[in-house]
Amino acid sequence: MHSPTLLTLTAILMAMVTAVLFAVWYFNRQIPGLRLWTLSYLFGLLFSISFLQWTRLPPALSVVLTQCAVSLTGYLCLMGCHAYMGRPPPRHGRAAVFIAVLVGMALYFTLVQPHPGMRFLAASLGPGVFYGLSAATLAHGGMQAYPARYLTAIVMGAHGAFVLLRTLLFKLQMSLVQDADMVPALSQFVILEAIMALVLIAFGILMLANEFTHSALRRLAEMDPLTSVFNRRAFLTLLDKAISQARRRRAELPVLVIDLDHFKKINDTWGHQCGDEVLRHFVGLAASCLRREDLMGRLGGEEFAIALPLATREGARAVAERLCSLVGQHPAMTEHGPIALTVSVGVTLCAAGETPEGVLHRADAAMYQAKQRGRNRVEVWQPEPVPGG
Ligand code: GH3
Ligand code: MG
Ligand code: MG
Repeated sequence: MHSPTLLTLTAILMAMVTAVLFAVWYFNRQIPGLRLWTLSYLFGLLFSISFLQWTRLPPALSVVLTQCAVSLTGYLCLMGCHAYMGRPPPRHGRAAVFIAVLVGMALYFTLVQPHPGMRFLAASLGPGVFYGLSAATLAHGGMQAYPARYLTAIVMGAHGAFVLLRTLLFKLQMSLVQDADMVPALSQFVILEAIMALVLIAFGILMLANEFTHSALRRLAEMDPLTSVFNRRAFLTLLDKAISQARRRRAELPVLVIDLDHFKKINDTWGHQCGDEVLRHFVGLAASCLRREDLMGRLGGEEFAIALPLATREGARAVAERLCSLVGQHPAMTEHGPIALTVSVGVTLCAAGETPEGVLHRADAAMYQAKQRGRNRVEVWQPEPVPGG
């Protein structure tokens, strides 16, 4: 029916790829999805072995083994994609019913009313659907930021589509040669496609593992570990980019500098740990005032900065006022009870060609004005009046 040499080659390749994925997972267990993808290849290996042993096993057992193994190969791949993307797992109940229907269909068209075409369709539907869904799950986040997701999605999607369409190819060939069991050329083509897909998908998985590690490292380098906003260095880099973009759009770029009032007193009264909790509480409140495009960074200690690329000067003042009153109205709930907090905010607009440091310096000056004028308030930076002007 199929070329035994090609099938043996497939089984050997499956075993090798499974071993490689297992080793990568073993040393990188923090990468989500890798364990499930390794299991997916393990079931692929089981499928190729049970396919090789087809004639030596009772037909019913062969059908159940191959059908379950091939469907689980696809389903575990889908589960891996969900885990990698941080999504809840797919619905196991639905998948179980789907796989059971396919097994029933394969048994019927093997034992009751033998029909190789329909049996082949049953074996193709599971992986076809699951690889298609895997591709749809992975292709999110933007091609520029996550190229590995899209490349892997293309390979999985193409494999899923081919698996679904190959039954039509068989039908076509059977209508030409009029012999259900003699379709060697097409069989070989199908196995060759499977070999290419298994190797390319494995490459995709390794690229995803690399992409995950890379973004985890970048996160570590860019984020403030206490509050999970950008650290000073990353914020300055992003602010520099935002300034260039604003200049190209001929738009204003408002920048806020925020300093927590009398924060030292909180530390002195309640302890450093409580101070840390208050800092996180403040960042949570600030995040609720911001849009997706806004940037927030911790400049150091209890001083933060926010850039609002889509806001006008008046819009930025409104955001600053809202943040100020929100913080005043929502004390931090700590183990020592509620701790009241206020902030002083300085607002400024970027001038064309300005450096990030220059803008922050001006926003900082406005913030100190707010401190001098009594704290818990917003000041928009005004140029110094020219003496005698
Ligand atoms: P002002 O209203 O004038 O801003 O007074 P302040 O007390 O907030 O300002 P000051 O600069 O005197 O004190 C800032 C304090 O912030 C001092 C420092 O110990 C504390 N601090 C800096 N970084 C951290 C941190 O990561 N965690 C905690 N808990 N405290 C921090
Ligand atoms: Mg302070
Ligand atoms: Mg300060």
